[in-house]
Amino acid sequence: MKEETRSFGYICPKCGKSVSAKRTVFALQAAAAAVVCDCGESELIVETTGTAYRLHVPCGICGETHRAECAQEALLSGQGIGFACPQTKQLCCYAGEEHRVARAMAELEETVARERVRGDAADAEAFADSVIMYEVLSELKEIASRPHGVRCACGSEKYSIEVRRTWVDLICRDCGAKLRINAATDEDLDRLCCNMTLTIGAAGGK
Ligand SMILES: [Zn+2]
Ligand SMILES: [Zn+2]
Ligand SMILES: [Zn+2]
Repeated sequence: MKEETRSFGYICPKCGKSVSAKRTVFALQAAAAAVVCDCGESELIVETTGTAYRLHVPCGICGETHRAECAQEALLSGQGIGFACPQTKQLCCYAGEEHRVARAMAELEETVARERVRGDAADAEAFADSVIMYEVLSELKEIASRPHGVRCACGSEKYSIEVRRTWVDLICRDCGAKLRINAATDEDLDRLCCNMTLTIGAAGGK
């Protein structure tokens, strides 16, 4: 007689790979089971309370470890059961029939990979060069800290700052004049650093 098994799958929050393994129903009823990622940095723990199962799920979506509980029948019989990340409401773990777990994990892997690409793209797009942007912003702070460091041709010293991908705009709050400071290259930074003060709305501005 073929021994009945159940599969478990999750996405490792450390290395991003999908991890799955099977355990026999007999073993699951007898003691706690652990499914460890090949990288050794995360493990799914399944423990029985006698009437229910408690899972500690390393979450590949948000990076935390979630605790989930489910009825014994749900874990040991039927097609399977999915557990969602409480933070993002996305499925982060699946337990049940082997082929269903495999399919759920393939989908989950794809979702996680897509999210990562999106996250990277968002970071990369924020600034053309984040080191230059950081330097430009701290230089601006330095200039603004000098007496009358930043003022508008209209006489106002009230302004707001808008930070974009390759430049920073200083906008006069009284007349709306604008001074654009490029913040993408070393030259942009050098050009800014030779100013003791900045004037919004001066010749060439706006
Ligand atoms: Zn891993
Ligand atoms: Zn989560
Ligand atoms: Zn002004």
